[in-house]
Amino acid sequence: MIFAPSPIPETEPPFDCPRCPRLVAFREELRAEHPGWWTAPVNAFGDPDAWLAVIGLAPGKHGANRTGRPVTGDYAGQLLFDTLGKCGLASGTYAATPEDDLQLHGAIVINAVKCLPPANKPTPEEIRTCRPFLEGQTAALPNARVFVALGQIAHQSAVKALGGRLPKARFGHLAEHRMPDGRILIDSYHCSRYNQNTGRLTRAMFEAVFERATALRQSPVLQDASLAGT
Ligand code: SF4
Repeated sequence: MIFAPSPIPETEPPFDCPRCPRLVAFREELRAEHPGWWTAPVNAFGDPDAWLAVIGLAPGKHGANRTGRPVTGDYAGQLLFDTLGKCGLASGTYAATPEDDLQLHGAIVINAVKCLPPANKPTPEEIRTCRPFLEGQTAALPNARVFVALGQIAHQSAVKALGGRLPKARFGHLAEHRMPDGRILIDSYHCSRYNQNTGRLTRAMFEAVFERATALRQSPVLQDASLAGT
């Protein structure tokens, strides 16, 4: 498999980032088991001039952890990249591998936690420890004015990374939160297989999030700093 380089390489953690001992130990185990997999902090994917940034939770074992590209290789990617394509934010064909010809235009995908956590559950300390990388990436995207958080953990880390306050920004599907500098965060239920199979998240519900993001992009409210924090 040929792995894709990051569009914002200066913001990425080192390949052997040592900060989370539990995740490092898990990473070492998996590297021995699957030497052809990426199994390292997952790079951002997409357009460095993006106006829209999607923030995922953490790599899945057979998804981003294996392929090295966010939300690629597992069930969630199909809906995410179909939806981005429908909104004119992606071209090419998603084939669940970094070797496909998928490209994002005006959008980028980054993770709140960059290494695979056991049972897909990072600890609060691991989320906190990885946040400086999320902060660095959001800061390195000067044109990103709208953020979409996939799931509650990504929401919480995104609010903190963008300088917001959690008591004022409660998670809810399609909930919108204005950050202190005027950027807007929209929440979505995660596009995981579980959420799709149980009907918690339908295709229409997911598309509504990105349709709202697209509408906001055109809206003067996005430029009005006097509304920040409301
Ligand atoms: S999760 Fe983040 S901080 Fe922790 S080891 Fe991986 S890259 Fe480093």
